[in-house]
Amino acid sequence: MKLTVDQETCIGCGRCEEICPAVFHLNEVTGKSEIIDEDACEFVGCCEAAEENCPVEAISIEE
Ligand code: SF4
Repeated sequence: MKLTVDQETCIGCGRCEEICPAVFHLNEVTGKSEIIDEDACEFVGCCEAAEENCPVEAISIEE
């Protein structure tokens, strides 16, 4: 699985971090979402929810 956040598209709303804090974190400098632990998707199962709830569809998951 490959998880990515498009930095150009992300508007820094923080929803992915709320849904999936083990995986996503808003970068203090850029204000945009970065992936801190992609492997946590496997254990907590919230990455799909984060992808579905991103308002600008910046998150993509490739199986
Ligand atoms: S939900 Fe989408 S737009 Fe909002 S911070 Fe996460 S990646 Fe960025």
